[in-house]
Amino acid sequence: MKLSIVVPCYNEEAALPVFLSAVTPIVQSTGLDYEIVFVDDGSRDATVATIVGLSCLYPQVRLVELSRNFGKEAAMTAGFTYATGDAIIPMDCDLQDPPELIPDMIEKWKAGFKVVHAVRRSRHTDTWLKRTTAGAFYRMMEDITDVAIPSNCGDYRLMDRAVVNAILSFPERNRFMKGIMAAAGFKAAQIEYDRPERAAGETKFNFWKLWNFALDGITGFSTVPLRVWTYIGAIVALFSFAYAGWIITKTMVWGVVTPGFATLTSVILFLGGIQLIGIGVLGEYIGRIVAETKRRPLFLVGALHGFEDRNVGPTVVPLETASAARGTL
Ligand code: UDP
Ligand code: MG
Repeated sequence: MKLSIVVPCYNEEAALPVFLSAVTPIVQSTGLDYEIVFVDDGSRDATVATIVGLSCLYPQVRLVELSRNFGKEAAMTAGFTYATGDAIIPMDCDLQDPPELIPDMIEKWKAGFKVVHAVRRSRHTDTWLKRTTAGAFYRMMEDITDVAIPSNCGDYRLMDRAVVNAILSFPERNRFMKGIMAAAGFKAAQIEYDRPERAAGETKFNFWKLWNFALDGITGFSTVPLRVWTYIGAIVALFSFAYAGWIITKTMVWGVVTPGFATLTSVILFLGGIQLIGIGVLGEYIGRIVAETKRRPLFLVGALHGFEDRNVGPTVVPLETASAARGTL
């Protein structure tokens, strides 16, 4: 039995040595065969050099170097493609995903669970803004999607090989991993933990990135925002009929009244605004349809390190796509 730890890294040179020295003894204590697959997501600092350097000390280290920054979700998918374990655990490399949970996860996995979620007991280490927006996001997702996306649950989880193969078989470019996991299903268990602060470096997710991430989640797993316009339109039309009726009656009773500029302007602005929002929502979906139909590769590999035993050719492999990579391994 083999365990693969998959670690997406973007400008993480400071966190890497701490990460490896914390994770390695714990993984070793499980007695399983293991590998640690780092995915460099186009870092601009010395992340690659640091990983290659550390691989001399830690022979189980592998590195998939992406050709540029593709984002965390794509980086994780790259890691899953190259990982060969029977169980796979994606982990952040800032030690916010406590490695002490790994033995418990493995215990649950051996007991027959295909997925073991690490669930946050509380979000007290998050800022107030992140806490409230995340809470609102998950509540809304619960209402508008068919799949049950667990809240307070990041990407830290153990997955059986069967689950990883299942999620790799999802063809979409939009890799909202929490949704894909939920859509895949499988028998799941949970472990609670308190999320610590980042060990080193700083967060790579600003407000704008998180906002787009939320939009990916909503558009990827719900069509409610598209369909709701039928009902908004119906309600507005109903109001406008009632209002028209009232104006006609008023005109017939009191005659023609010219003033009405303010009413007219506000009605036009209101309807214009509503229509623009509707078009904007359409745009969000159409933009994603365009991205999906192009079928561009999810990630591109610039180089591989530590895969010499895997029959994937020379250390530096020319650019290749996810599916091509899956074929050779
Ligand atoms: N990450 C990545 N690509 C990106 C952004 C982040 O691979 O474009 C990695 C990052 O190196 C880290 C993990 O994703 O290992 C989580 O990032 P971070 O800790 O900044 O997120 P937070 O914990 O603040 O939500
Ligand atoms: Mg973090």
